[in-house]
Amino acid sequence: MSSAVKTIIPKINIDLPEVTIREVRLGSVTNFTGTAKELLELSECGSLKDKGRAFSQSTGCSSLNAFCQLSGIRGVVVINHAPIGCAGDFQSFDFVHRTSLEGFGIHDYNGRFYSTDLLEKNTIFGGIEKLKTAAREIFEREKPKAIFITTSCASGIIGDDVGAAANELSREFGIPVSPCICEGFRSKLWTSGFDAAFHSVLKSIVKPPRKRSNKVNIINFWGSRIFDDLLNELGYEAQYIVPYATYEELEYISEAAATIQICSTLGSYLGAALEQLYGVPEVKYAPAFGIEGTDRWMRELGRVLDREEQVEKIIERRHREIAPKLEEYRSKLSGKKAYVAAGAAFGHALSALIQDLGMTLVGASVYHHDAFYDNHDKDSDALANTVKTFGDIPNYRVCNKQLFEIVNVLYNLDVDILIARHPGIVVWGAKLGLPTFIMDDEQYAFGYQGILNYAEKILETLDTIEFTKNLQKHSRMPYTKWWLTQPVDTFTIGGSSK
Ligand code: SF4
Repeated sequence: MSSAVKTIIPKINIDLPEVTIREVRLGSVTNFTGTAKELLELSECGSLKDKGRAFSQSTGCSSLNAFCQLSGIRGVVVINHAPIGCAGDFQSFDFVHRTSLEGFGIHDYNGRFYSTDLLEKNTIFGGIEKLKTAAREIFEREKPKAIFITTSCASGIIGDDVGAAANELSREFGIPVSPCICEGFRSKLWTSGFDAAFHSVLKSIVKPPRKRSNKVNIINFWGSRIFDDLLNELGYEAQYIVPYATYEELEYISEAAATIQICSTLGSYLGAALEQLYGVPEVKYAPAFGIEGTDRWMRELGRVLDREEQVEKIIERRHREIAPKLEEYRSKLSGKKAYVAAGAAFGHALSALIQDLGMTLVGASVYHHDAFYDNHDKDSDALANTVKTFGDIPNYRVCNKQLFEIVNVLYNLDVDILIARHPGIVVWGAKLGLPTFIMDDEQYAFGYQGILNYAEKILETLDTIEFTKNLQKHSRMPYTKWWLTQPVDTFTIGGSSK
């Protein structure tokens, strides 16, 4: 290649009214069948193309993913401009937030979520006046620091100008009123909803830095405060964002010394934006799962925070501390066959972690694949790191929670344990008589302690074999023998790969 030819890396642009969806921004796909190496090669050479499905079961929605972040901000209100059915996620995240707050030591969170309850007549005559009336009443009632308006398929299809309404309301109330354009049909990737939420936060709340602080942003879901001890030891303070941050804290996340993320699927956009717009360095290495992944991530953290020597000492100490237990677990788990079903970043992380424990990874279903990350740094590519360290992953699928496909794969593979990220998947492991472990707390697997936590959990789960076999005997499988013996990508448009 001529040295005059340069790769043009698109920069994050928060002046845009809405975030560019992942399919366009990151070349993301939701359907692939092959091996992990094949997928990486296609991503690398730019020829990865998404394939549709002639049949598809229900899947996730961007609006939910946007809501799961915005609804956790303290001091703000979220209005879902949508039919009431789209508000089904209100109770889910009210529950998630209320159960997580204890771990964060936060007692002044009071989630305030409203729906405009768009009706059929609103889809004919327009819903903007209903939105404005609702926003005025909510403002009077709640006196929030900011209001986020999340959109829906209905408001998008009828063309309600939520941006213009938000500007008008913002001037009227004297607070940020921010549209979050996240209707489900905009993107096949529900993770585009995270980006939509962060785009709104960046546009409406975050201000340019006044100075550099000693805080480190942690782009997080919820869970517990696992970064406090490590960062305190290095002379920094953990600042968990976006859920459970206050409006005032979010205003100056631009001043942080660095940004790290618990999940690069979640934080790709916000981490890159804070670095590009405000110079907050992002720890770009894939999050710390498995021994090698944790070592790599720790060293990068040390480099970014200028604490390389201290980090080397911590790595050495932690290796020494976990070595006896790790050996014991490895000898017990050696050769056990695992299958992983999870979102992209956690799928990659789990793939590394279970191979680090000496287990055999017989395949994986990850819910989407980003051909690259927003920072365009190869070090962020967790799948590439996993393949480099442990070799190729067979039976690698990108599958946006199509349960009929996941069940087909599990039926045909010889698996000892299913490790899944979401409750909707684990029930199928049980129906198939497979010991199944749900990884609902991502923090539980993070870092050196996370490897031991997981080994223990996997051993406990393997012990449930008799129970799950009994469950299988009493379960009914809705899928026919015909489907279970078809190639898994039978319904892929363009034909099966087999
Ligand atoms: S925004 Fe669309 S996809 Fe999402 S819940 Fe509402 S109708 Fe369903």
